[in-house]
Amino acid sequence: PVLRVHILRSPREIALMRKAGLVVWQAHQLAAELVRPGVTTAEIDATIDEHFAKCGAIPLFKGVPGKTPFPAATCISVNEEVVHGIPGPRKLKEGDVVSIDTGCKLGGWCGDAAITHPVGKVAPEVAKLLEVTKGVLDLAIEEMGKRRLWSEVAERMAQYVREAGFSVVENFVGHGIGREMHEEPQVPNFVSGGLRRNGDFRLEPGLVIAVEPMVNMGTKRVKGLPDHWTQVTVDGKPSAHFEHTIAMTPEGPKALT
Ligand code: MG
Repeated sequence: PVLRVHILRSPREIALMRKAGLVVWQAHQLAAELVRPGVTTAEIDATIDEHFAKCGAIPLFKGVPGKTPFPAATCISVNEEVVHGIPGPRKLKEGDVVSIDTGCKLGGWCGDAAITHPVGKVAPEVAKLLEVTKGVLDLAIEEMGKRRLWSEVAERMAQYVREAGFSVVENFVGHGIGREMHEEPQVPNFVSGGLRRNGDFRLEPGLVIAVEPMVNMGTKRVKGLPDHWTQVTVDGKPSAHFEHTIAMTPEGPKALT
Protein backbone atom coordinates (compact mmCIF):
# COMPACT_ATOMS: atom_id res chain seq x y z
CA PRO A 1 0.00 0.00 0.00
CA VAL A 2 1.08 3.55 -0.76
CA LEU A 3 0.97 5.88 2.24
CA ARG A 4 0.10 9.42 1.32
CA VAL A 5 2.11 12.30 2.69
CA HIS A 6 0.25 15.39 3.89
CA ILE A 7 1.04 18.86 5.17
CA LEU A 8 1.95 18.80 8.85
CA ARG A 9 1.26 21.83 11.05
CA SER A 10 3.70 23.26 13.61
CA PRO A 11 2.66 23.68 17.28
CA ARG A 12 2.33 27.41 16.56
CA GLU A 13 -0.01 26.77 13.64
CA ILE A 14 -2.07 24.33 15.70
CA ALA A 15 -2.38 26.98 18.43
CA LEU A 16 -3.80 29.37 15.81
CA MET A 17 -6.21 26.69 14.57
CA ARG A 18 -7.33 26.22 18.18
CA LYS A 19 -8.46 29.87 18.18
CA ALA A 20 -10.66 29.24 15.14
CA GLY A 21 -11.84 26.00 16.74
CA LEU A 22 -12.92 27.81 19.90
CA VAL A 23 -15.06 30.24 17.90
CA VAL A 24 -16.74 27.23 16.24
CA TRP A 25 -17.26 25.61 19.65
CA GLN A 26 -18.85 28.82 21.00
CA ALA A 27 -21.15 28.89 17.97
CA HIS A 28 -22.32 25.39 18.87
CA GLN A 29 -22.96 26.44 22.49
CA LEU A 30 -25.15 29.32 21.28
CA ALA A 31 -27.02 27.00 18.90
CA ALA A 32 -27.58 24.41 21.64
CA GLU A 33 -29.37 27.03 23.75
CA LEU A 34 -31.77 27.75 20.88
CA VAL A 35 -32.73 24.16 20.01
CA ARG A 36 -36.33 23.60 21.15
CA PRO A 37 -39.75 22.99 19.56
CA GLY A 38 -40.89 26.05 17.57
CA VAL A 39 -37.49 27.53 16.68
CA THR A 40 -36.74 27.78 12.95
CA THR A 41 -33.52 26.54 11.42
CA ALA A 42 -33.02 30.04 9.94
CA GLU A 43 -32.98 31.52 13.48
CA ILE A 44 -30.23 29.11 14.52
CA ASP A 45 -28.24 29.98 11.40
CA ALA A 46 -28.63 33.74 11.98
CA THR A 47 -27.33 33.42 15.56
CA ILE A 48 -24.22 31.56 14.42
CA ASP A 49 -23.65 33.96 11.51
CA GLU A 50 -23.81 36.93 13.92
CA HIS A 51 -21.44 35.22 16.35
CA PHE A 52 -18.84 34.73 13.60
CA ALA A 53 -19.18 38.38 12.56
CA LYS A 54 -18.71 39.53 16.18
CA CYS A 55 -15.56 37.41 16.46
CA GLY A 56 -14.13 38.73 13.18
CA ALA A 57 -14.40 35.22 11.70
CA ILE A 58 -15.43 34.31 8.16
CA PRO A 59 -18.22 31.70 7.82
CA LEU A 60 -16.76 28.93 5.68
CA PHE A 61 -19.94 27.34 4.37
CA LYS A 62 -21.46 30.47 2.82
CA GLY A 63 -20.81 30.52 -0.90
CA VAL A 64 -19.36 27.01 -1.17
CA PRO A 65 -19.69 26.37 -4.90
CA GLY A 66 -22.26 23.90 -6.21
CA LYS A 67 -25.05 24.04 -8.76
CA THR A 68 -26.08 27.01 -6.61
CA PRO A 69 -23.64 28.44 -4.02
CA PHE A 70 -24.45 27.33 -0.45
CA PRO A 71 -26.52 30.22 1.01
CA ALA A 72 -25.90 29.98 4.78
CA ALA A 73 -23.27 29.89 7.56
CA THR A 74 -24.51 26.50 8.77
CA CYS A 75 -25.80 23.25 7.36
CA ILE A 76 -28.86 22.25 9.37
CA SER A 77 -30.22 18.78 8.69
CA VAL A 78 -33.39 17.48 10.38
CA ASN A 79 -34.35 13.80 10.91
CA GLU A 80 -33.87 11.90 7.60
CA GLU A 81 -31.65 14.74 6.30
CA VAL A 82 -28.08 13.49 6.59
CA VAL A 83 -25.93 16.54 5.77
CA HIS A 84 -25.95 19.83 3.82
CA GLY A 85 -29.49 20.88 4.81
CA ILE A 86 -30.24 24.54 4.06
CA PRO A 87 -31.54 26.64 7.00
CA GLY A 88 -34.99 28.11 6.41
CA PRO A 89 -38.48 28.65 7.84
CA ARG A 90 -38.89 25.03 9.02
CA LYS A 91 -39.84 24.91 12.70
CA LEU A 92 -38.29 22.20 14.86
CA LYS A 93 -40.78 19.85 16.53
CA GLU A 94 -40.69 17.77 19.70
CA GLY A 95 -39.09 14.42 18.82
CA ASP A 96 -36.98 15.74 15.89
CA VAL A 97 -33.22 15.40 15.72
CA VAL A 98 -31.31 18.33 14.27
CA SER A 99 -27.74 18.21 13.02
CA ILE A 100 -25.94 21.55 13.05
CA ASP A 101 -22.67 21.71 11.11
CA THR A 102 -20.61 24.89 10.86
CA GLY A 103 -17.10 26.19 10.32
CA CYS A 104 -15.21 29.47 10.27
CA LYS A 105 -11.88 30.95 9.30
CA LEU A 106 -10.12 33.13 11.88
CA GLY A 107 -6.74 34.74 11.21
CA GLY A 108 -6.39 32.60 8.11
CA TRP A 109 -7.02 29.24 9.85
CA CYS A 110 -10.11 27.02 9.73
CA GLY A 111 -12.24 25.09 12.21
CA ASP A 112 -15.18 22.79 11.44
CA ALA A 113 -17.52 20.86 13.77
CA ALA A 114 -21.00 19.31 13.88
CA ILE A 115 -23.37 18.23 16.64
CA THR A 116 -26.74 16.50 16.41
CA HIS A 117 -29.26 17.54 19.08
CA PRO A 118 -32.50 15.92 20.19
CA VAL A 119 -35.45 18.34 20.15
CA GLY A 120 -37.28 17.78 23.43
CA LYS A 121 -37.93 14.12 24.08
CA VAL A 122 -37.05 11.70 21.27
CA ALA A 123 -37.88 8.00 20.76
CA PRO A 124 -35.47 5.60 22.52
CA GLU A 125 -34.10 4.24 19.22
CA VAL A 126 -33.40 7.82 18.07
CA ALA A 127 -31.65 8.63 21.36
CA LYS A 128 -29.51 5.54 20.79
CA LEU A 129 -28.64 6.74 17.26
CA LEU A 130 -27.30 10.02 18.71
CA GLU A 131 -25.42 8.21 21.46
CA VAL A 132 -23.78 5.83 18.99
CA THR A 133 -22.81 8.61 16.54
CA LYS A 134 -21.28 10.72 19.33
CA GLY A 135 -19.74 7.51 20.65
CA VAL A 136 -18.05 6.64 17.36
CA LEU A 137 -16.48 10.11 17.14
CA ASP A 138 -15.17 9.76 20.71
CA LEU A 139 -13.87 6.30 19.82
CA ALA A 140 -12.07 7.69 16.75
CA ILE A 141 -10.32 10.36 18.85
CA GLU A 142 -9.23 7.78 21.40
CA GLU A 143 -8.03 5.33 18.73
CA MET A 144 -6.08 8.09 16.94
CA GLY A 145 -3.81 8.12 19.99
CA LYS A 146 -3.19 4.37 19.83
CA ARG A 147 -2.95 3.46 16.13
CA ARG A 148 -0.34 4.14 13.46
CA LEU A 149 -2.59 4.43 10.40
CA TRP A 150 -5.99 6.01 9.74
CA SER A 151 -7.34 2.74 8.25
CA GLU A 152 -6.95 1.08 11.66
CA VAL A 153 -9.16 3.78 13.21
CA ALA A 154 -11.71 3.66 10.38
CA GLU A 155 -12.02 -0.10 10.71
CA ARG A 156 -12.87 0.20 14.40
CA MET A 157 -15.35 3.01 13.74
CA ALA A 158 -17.25 0.93 11.18
CA GLN A 159 -17.28 -2.08 13.49
CA TYR A 160 -18.62 -0.02 16.42
CA VAL A 161 -21.52 1.28 14.32
CA ARG A 162 -22.26 -2.12 12.79
CA GLU A 163 -22.39 -3.76 16.23
CA ALA A 164 -24.89 -1.10 17.36
CA GLY A 165 -27.16 -2.13 14.47
CA PHE A 166 -26.79 1.10 12.46
CA SER A 167 -24.95 1.97 9.23
CA VAL A 168 -22.10 4.33 8.34
CA VAL A 169 -22.75 6.69 5.43
CA GLU A 170 -20.12 6.10 2.75
CA ASN A 171 -20.98 8.85 0.26
CA PHE A 172 -19.42 11.55 2.43
CA VAL A 173 -16.16 11.57 4.37
CA GLY A 174 -14.08 13.78 6.64
CA HIS A 175 -11.14 15.83 5.41
CA GLY A 176 -7.83 17.47 6.11
CA ILE A 177 -8.23 21.06 7.32
CA GLY A 178 -5.89 24.02 7.77
CA ARG A 179 -5.64 27.13 5.62
CA GLU A 180 -8.68 25.80 3.72
CA MET A 181 -11.69 23.94 5.06
CA HIS A 182 -11.27 21.00 2.70
CA GLU A 183 -7.71 19.80 2.24
CA GLU A 184 -6.10 16.43 1.67
CA PRO A 185 -6.49 13.74 2.92
CA GLN A 186 -9.97 12.29 2.61
CA VAL A 187 -10.96 10.80 5.97
CA PRO A 188 -13.51 8.00 5.51
CA ASN A 189 -15.36 6.48 8.46
CA PHE A 190 -15.08 3.01 6.93
CA VAL A 191 -12.46 0.94 5.13
CA SER A 192 -12.54 0.46 1.37
CA GLY A 193 -10.13 -0.99 -1.17
CA GLY A 194 -9.17 2.55 -2.16
CA LEU A 195 -8.24 3.52 1.39
CA ARG A 196 -6.06 0.43 1.75
CA ARG A 197 -4.44 0.80 -1.71
CA ASN A 198 -3.49 4.43 -1.86
CA GLY A 199 -5.57 6.56 0.51
CA ASP A 200 -4.16 5.58 3.87
CA PHE A 201 -2.03 7.94 5.97
CA ARG A 202 0.05 7.99 9.11
CA LEU A 203 -1.30 9.45 12.34
CA GLU A 204 1.71 11.64 13.14
CA PRO A 205 2.16 14.87 15.09
CA GLY A 206 1.13 17.89 13.00
CA LEU A 207 -1.65 16.11 11.11
CA VAL A 208 -4.95 18.03 11.42
CA ILE A 209 -8.16 16.41 10.18
CA ALA A 210 -11.91 16.91 10.51
CA VAL A 211 -13.39 13.57 11.55
CA GLU A 212 -17.12 13.47 10.88
CA PRO A 213 -19.05 10.20 11.14
CA MET A 214 -22.56 10.22 9.66
CA VAL A 215 -24.65 7.32 10.95
CA ASN A 216 -28.02 6.16 9.59
CA MET A 217 -30.60 4.20 11.55
CA GLY A 218 -31.49 2.15 8.44
CA THR A 219 -29.77 1.86 5.07
CA LYS A 220 -26.47 3.64 4.45
CA ARG A 221 -27.81 4.84 1.10
CA VAL A 222 -28.46 8.57 0.63
CA LYS A 223 -29.79 10.75 -2.17
CA GLY A 224 -29.77 14.47 -2.99
CA LEU A 225 -32.89 16.65 -2.94
CA PRO A 226 -33.79 19.01 -5.82
CA ASP A 227 -32.44 21.98 -3.80
CA HIS A 228 -28.99 20.68 -4.96
CA TRP A 229 -27.68 20.49 -1.39
CA THR A 230 -29.75 18.52 1.11
CA GLN A 231 -28.84 14.82 1.36
CA VAL A 232 -31.48 12.48 2.79
CA THR A 233 -31.59 8.80 3.68
CA VAL A 234 -33.16 6.72 0.89
CA ASP A 235 -35.43 4.90 3.39
CA GLY A 236 -36.52 8.09 5.21
CA LYS A 237 -35.13 6.88 8.55
CA PRO A 238 -33.21 9.34 10.74
CA SER A 239 -29.51 10.11 10.52
CA ALA A 240 -27.00 11.72 12.89
CA HIS A 241 -23.70 13.55 12.40
CA PHE A 242 -20.94 14.58 14.82
CA GLU A 243 -17.66 16.23 13.87
CA HIS A 244 -14.52 17.65 15.45
CA THR A 245 -11.39 19.21 14.01
CA ILE A 246 -8.62 17.12 15.55
CA ALA A 247 -4.88 17.77 15.70
CA MET A 248 -2.29 15.07 16.32
CA THR A 249 0.25 16.43 18.84
CA PRO A 250 3.25 14.81 20.56
CA GLU A 251 0.91 14.33 23.56
CA GLY A 252 -1.77 12.65 21.43
CA PRO A 253 -4.90 13.74 19.57
CA LYS A 254 -6.52 17.05 20.63
CA ALA A 255 -9.95 18.25 19.53
CA LEU A 256 -9.51 21.89 18.46
CA THR A 257 -13.26 22.53 18.32
MG1 MG B 1 -16.40 18.91 7.71
